[in-house]
Amino acid sequence: MREKFLARHTTASLQQLIGDKRAVVALVPIGSTEPHGPHLGLGTDVVISAAACVRACETFDKRGPLVAVVAPAVSYGVTDCADGFTGAVSIPAPVLTAYVQAICDGLLASGIKHVCLVNNHLEPAHDAAIRACVREKQISVACPLTRKWARTLSAEFKSGACHAGRYETSIVMAAAPEFVDESIRTVLKPVPISLSEKLSAGVNTFSAMGMELAYAGDPAAATVEEGEALIGRLADMIVGEVRESIGLPV
Ligand SMILES: [Zn+2]
Repeated sequence: MREKFLARHTTASLQQLIGDKRAVVALVPIGSTEPHGPHLGLGTDVVISAAACVRACETFDKRGPLVAVVAPAVSYGVTDCADGFTGAVSIPAPVLTAYVQAICDGLLASGIKHVCLVNNHLEPAHDAAIRACVREKQISVACPLTRKWARTLSAEFKSGACHAGRYETSIVMAAAPEFVDESIRTVLKPVPISLSEKLSAGVNTFSAMGMELAYAGDPAAATVEEGEALIGRLADMIVGEVRESIGLPV
């Protein structure tokens, strides 16, 4: 079984993988360090991106002709929406863009053929900072904010009431249950606040949106089964974005 985590490769084993017939794609999981309700860990978005990347590796193996590795994650992002909450660490957008661009440059210089930035922290300024890294065809972004992929996800996701709600909580329960406090999750009341609607109306922070516990949606309704299915759809998104930007049939 080939090693799918870039960080576990040695220089020699990576050279061998790159020298093989199949072009190597690096998937970079991207998230943020920010509050996700009273029941999920601060690293939730990174967990979601990493789980989708691992699943996508399996799909790449099955479909060919590409082979994918999961690169070390970018665990901090632009998180101004969570301003005022303990545990929110925000990086200025130009700093994030320059950092991620340098990561892409380094991976491509190693002989990796394509880098896909897999982002599941959906704050618009963060998404824009990541998309600003795409200066050449060898870099793509996979993020469910795109309408094309959003429509493949759950009803709660499409409603925009999806910060640490049923959508994200289900994925974390499936991918990393140690990030979930079940005794709190199961008693949380639904918070039907749409972040996308609030953001379009110019309301930019969780506190101003009325999310005093830093979640929206219905975490008590989350299930492992739904999380498993959503990870599969996010993996299909990654494979689709990469194949499209390389010019292969999606
Ligand atoms: Zn999140």
